[in-house]
Amino acid sequence: MQSTDSNTPETPPSAPSAVQQPRMRLMRQYELVERVRAYDPDANEDLLNRAYVFSMQAHGSQIRASGDPFFSHPLEVAGILTEMKLDSTTIATALLHDTVEDTLVSLNDIQKQFGPNVARLVDGVTKLSRIELQTDQAKQAENFRKLVVAMSEDIRVLLIKLADRLHNMRTLHYLPEERKRRRIARETLDIYAPLAQRIGIEKMQEELEDLAFAELNPDARSSIVARLNFLRNEGGAIAQKILKELKTLLDENGIAADLEGREKAPYSIWRKMQRKNVGFEQLSDIMAFRIIVNSVDQCYQVLGIIHSHYHVIPGRFKDYISTPKPNQYQSLHTGIMGPELQRIEIQIRTKEMHEVAELGVAAHWGYKQAAPRTDGLQYRWLRELLDIVEHAQKPEEFLENTKLELFQDQVFCFTPKGDLIALPNGATPVDFAYAIHGRVGDACVGAKVNGRMVPLRTILKNGDQVEINTQKGSTPSAAWERFVVTGKAKSCVRRFVRMQQKTENIVLGKSMLEKLCKQEGVEFSEKAFEPLTQQFQSSSVDDLFASIGASVHQPREIFNAAFPDHKPKQPEKIAEKINAVRQKAASTRSLATATLKGLPPGMSVHYARCCHPLPGDPIVGIVATGRGITVHTRDCITLDTFVNQPERWIDVGWSDTIEPMVGRLDVVLVNQPNSLGQLTNIIGKNDGNIYNMKITNRTPEFVDIIVDVEVHDLNHLTIIIAALRASSAINSVERTKGR
Ligand code: MN
Repeated sequence: MQSTDSNTPETPPSAPSAVQQPRMRLMRQYELVERVRAYDPDANEDLLNRAYVFSMQAHGSQIRASGDPFFSHPLEVAGILTEMKLDSTTIATALLHDTVEDTLVSLNDIQKQFGPNVARLVDGVTKLSRIELQTDQAKQAENFRKLVVAMSEDIRVLLIKLADRLHNMRTLHYLPEERKRRRIARETLDIYAPLAQRIGIEKMQEELEDLAFAELNPDARSSIVARLNFLRNEGGAIAQKILKELKTLLDENGIAADLEGREKAPYSIWRKMQRKNVGFEQLSDIMAFRIIVNSVDQCYQVLGIIHSHYHVIPGRFKDYISTPKPNQYQSLHTGIMGPELQRIEIQIRTKEMHEVAELGVAAHWGYKQAAPRTDGLQYRWLRELLDIVEHAQKPEEFLENTKLELFQDQVFCFTPKGDLIALPNGATPVDFAYAIHGRVGDACVGAKVNGRMVPLRTILKNGDQVEINTQKGSTPSAAWERFVVTGKAKSCVRRFVRMQQKTENIVLGKSMLEKLCKQEGVEFSEKAFEPLTQQFQSSSVDDLFASIGASVHQPREIFNAAFPDHKPKQPEKIAEKINAVRQKAASTRSLATATLKGLPPGMSVHYARCCHPLPGDPIVGIVATGRGITVHTRDCITLDTFVNQPERWIDVGWSDTIEPMVGRLDVVLVNQPNSLGQLTNIIGKNDGNIYNMKITNRTPEFVDIIVDVEVHDLNHLTIIIAALRASSAINSVERTKGR
């Protein structure tokens, strides 16, 4: 870590692999008091002095695994908290935090000696420590629950706990038992580092992560560190060069600023490599630079100077000043092709913002406010978390499945203009589009995230800049329903799909009636059917037509009701037509497998690929010029294309069939071993024959497969679908239609 900021507190030993010497010398009583007095002239010296002596005596000759006196631990924890400028009560509690747990001292003693506030805090921390060493999941979950309860009562319990954990992590390598070390490191990564992040203590989060990373994956960490060293040497003092150039640039523009340059922490580099699935070489912004100025105006001024001087990397600009992160973090971020043509990240913020970024929640009150309240808006997440934890059915399951993802229950994305759109976790560009406006959602055809085209089902991440491409006249796709997560997107898509089906059904039903009228030599008029609406439980003529389109009623049935005295003109010569169909059977595969009725003689027949009609489906034939007849299911959306050509519609139906036909299924499999085996097994057991199979999409959780199955008829396919749906390996099964 390179820093030009001399005010940065001493960097803790962030290379945990290096052997640490046992501390020979403990911080003296007066030194601790001086540290606190340095930022809080009104510190309660008496309290601090008494806590120091009390703790030292209580721990007596206890020794830590490092060989240090045990008292060094509470003292170091108190030291960490002075860096965060916390109040005397918190510092005193830190000194006492292990006395009740590890010595003969009782909580009652603490209460008598130090009063109710310190006692309450010590109790909070003690309760957590009691169950900390439990290994099984249920206990860990209980631990977590208690932590949440305790910190929701007083956030200082969490701060002390985090400092306690940080010191334990710094000295973790002294523990002889590898399993224990790994468990503590894992817990740190799962629970404490995210908590530090959630309350905005960036420094602590980074150090906790790095120490845990070193324990859990030392090889990965050391190769990243080695790589960083190599780059640093290879590039010469590149960070220094960049800093110098930035400094000069700002000086020329009359802006006084503190600058610091730093490498990203190994663990955050590692996480990025995993998340983006890129190698080290492709990581552009290993270096980040901070520019700290005096006012918000200057932040934007500096941004302007930087942006007009360097090439800006598209999609990297984020304005966390106008829209702070949920943990109160504020800054401007941008990515540029910097001096030396390196891609670098620049953060611009005021001194106050910098303090918040470093100290998080502690920056807001510190010693100034003795009893921080946790009922403000800022802690809403905490109360919500408490609520969830308390009502969880199985705490261990809750812990296993969600870890601390709860803290990131929202993602914040931006429009190209920089407007903030807050969405629930798991939201996609389609959700984003609908969040902007219903019309944007409806007309959405594609999306760019951070300047790159992505599939519409992509899950958005915090800070993503999303650009929605729309096309006039474009409509929502029924497939969106499978991946959108916001209520608004869901209801809009559903409403559209229903509306679309209704429209199709009206058009189809009407044209079927028209066709029938023409056949029967009766002039078609909507008026003729108006009197029938009530009789057929329809609210309007359109509704009546839709009921025909949806196969609720047969056109003949409606026709007969409208013209009760009409004598049918052309009795159908079914046998002749079937023969005609059979004669042409040899020409197409599909035809060979089923027979139709209602066909004019001499017509060749194809089965539409868009809807895969099966015997039993309501179907309709469309005269394809020069290619005979194409058979569609009546609800196939391709039929839309032929709405204005009723003369091409042929009313066909199925005759009894013996031979199988192919039905197409959209299956979403759970991505786990033998899911596919179960799928094929179920189809086989139900007498279906797999004709073709294709994987269309794969995520860590699910695999989308299209399966073509030979079945006898629609009923047969329905049975197979039901059997598949009963299997735990299968997330969903739909018959593919209308595509
Ligand atoms: Mn402790």
